[in-house]
Amino acid sequence: MTSAKKYSTDPAELGFDPAQLRAKYIHERDKRGRKEGFGQYKKAAGQFSHFMEDHYVAPGFTRAPLTDEVEVVVIGGGFGGLLAGARLREAGVESIRVIDKAGDFGGTWYWNRYPGAQCDIEAYVYMPLLDELDYVPTERYVHAPELLQHSINIAKKYDLYRDTCFQTEVTEIRWDESISRWIIHTDRGDAMKAHYIAMANGLLTRPKLPGIPGIEKFKGHTFHTSRWDYAYTGGSCDGNLDKLNDKRVGIIGTGATAVQCIPHLGEAAQRLYVFQRTPSSVDARHNSPTNPEWKAKLKPGWAKERVENFNLALGGGYTDEDMVGDGWTDIFRNIGGIVTGDINELTEEEKEEVFELADFKKMQEIRDRAAAIVQDRETAEALKAYYRQYCKRPCFHDEYLQTYNRPSVTLVDTHGHGVDEITEKGVIVDGKEYEVDCLIFSTGFEVGTSYTSQSGYDVIGRNGISLSKKWADGLATFHGLQSHGFPNCFFLGFTQTGVTPNATHMLSEQAGHLAYIVKQGIARGATTVEVTQEAEDEWCNICNSYGDKTERLLAECTPGYYNNEGGGKSKNGFISGQFGGGAAKFFDIIGKWRAEGNLRGLEIK
Ligand code: NDP
Repeated sequence: MTSAKKYSTDPAELGFDPAQLRAKYIHERDKRGRKEGFGQYKKAAGQFSHFMEDHYVAPGFTRAPLTDEVEVVVIGGGFGGLLAGARLREAGVESIRVIDKAGDFGGTWYWNRYPGAQCDIEAYVYMPLLDELDYVPTERYVHAPELLQHSINIAKKYDLYRDTCFQTEVTEIRWDESISRWIIHTDRGDAMKAHYIAMANGLLTRPKLPGIPGIEKFKGHTFHTSRWDYAYTGGSCDGNLDKLNDKRVGIIGTGATAVQCIPHLGEAAQRLYVFQRTPSSVDARHNSPTNPEWKAKLKPGWAKERVENFNLALGGGYTDEDMVGDGWTDIFRNIGGIVTGDINELTEEEKEEVFELADFKKMQEIRDRAAAIVQDRETAEALKAYYRQYCKRPCFHDEYLQTYNRPSVTLVDTHGHGVDEITEKGVIVDGKEYEVDCLIFSTGFEVGTSYTSQSGYDVIGRNGISLSKKWADGLATFHGLQSHGFPNCFFLGFTQTGVTPNATHMLSEQAGHLAYIVKQGIARGATTVEVTQEAEDEWCNICNSYGDKTERLLAECTPGYYNNEGGGKSKNGFISGQFGGGAAKFFDIIGKWRAEGNLRGLEIK
């Protein structure tokens, strides 16, 4: 240990060589570089539109078009829309209409019903409105049916079913200056009016497909994980995919979704081929049923306290108590083992180095875990992730790696190149054809396109200016929720907000904030509530002032949707233009703004 430093960088003391690992990470990144970036993917549209089919509704639904008026239209019935609806109800808003293309509430958990689907953040901090519903999840990491049911329970508690429009896709939203109302056009011929709109379209909602040559040629059965076809596979979210017992199955992709469904495919399929481009980091899950004694001791407000503690731990807030204490917060606990003394005494540069060392240590443990579990040496080696833990969504599972010990399961590692070709009968890698009866795409969701492309509709504000045009060079909002020229309009999601892996926490804070503003607007008899250009510019400057530290870190990562598929800075990137101060600081800022009580930066007419 050097005298100046309060931590060691000596490989002998650390048990790994930081310089060697740094070089290996860069090597793994470089071998995956693709000049097409996001362009390597195809939309599930046109000849691929069958990948979007909703298997959970009866076909043939019709209804008469609507031209009526409501106080607030909420677009999206996932946790974002549910939270907005709940907080608006609490604020006394009676007239709320939720619109969603799905057949029910649930959003992510309506669509993602693949076998093994489960929340990967602890349910006690991920599931929203637990205090309000007086509900304690049944497990630490609950499975998808409970998450869907919780969504339905929220909708029932806050009476949100009353005026819903399901199986309805918004096609355009247009501001009508003559009546100061939004007109919402949909694929059902609606032209309904709303005083306020809240857009909770969700993130990662549009399935994408890899642009592998020949993808359209495959003659076997095929679907995307977010539209699981149980009629073909048999079984349910719990597994037991008995109709696959005599089938050869291929799955492309090894991200967070694949990690959860592969154990069930491996258990059921006569033969399973997993086509891997980059391995996920898969740490232990240690799921367990909720302890009844712990549950009995919970005091009102327990969930809020835990959510905030988790957020602080993830944001590097050095909490004394790590209430969740799982794989997500592990990296920060590791720091304690590396630094002697108070981390706050380190310079910013030293802190960055310590974080890197803690990350190396964690990832080394995860690689060692793969080696300890997977019996075949070559397969185990291929499953080792060489990048920083937050380069990709960290995964946790207690049966995923074990699946590769089944004789019926083969990992086809493509050494970072991806699948070469798809044929009528199967998949080609390194000149070898793997024939399959069923090919499942676990290839994720559209990212890197504009906000309006991902929403599936444009918003035409004052003076005919569209949101797609206004945000063509990047997001421009006030506190991530409102944009000048778009009165009475709110965005929920990662739009110039602090980013957190616990997306429901962000949505919850945003929902409370928008309900506060709408309530104030109604109380003041406002026709319009609109952010001023000055306030918006000020917020954009604050977001820009954090520089590109995160983007610099991500640039060293293997390609993925976090870093624009390795394509460098992008105005539509997953984290582009975000408030760089972190989620905890963001919540603090909007909380203090509300406490001021004067709607600073908003113009009320
Ligand atoms: P991802 O985008 O994370 O993964 C896509 C996978 O497809 C990657 O492994 C990618 O490889 C692979 N791929 C893409 N193109 C090719 C190709 N040509 N050949 C071979 N492989 C290819 O999608 P997921 O659906 O897994 O996850 C998306 C997100 O959803 C997660 O990051 C997470 O945020 C969320 N999620 C959350 C869960 C929860 O419990 N809350 C559970 C599951 C998902 P490569 O890595 O090389 O690009």
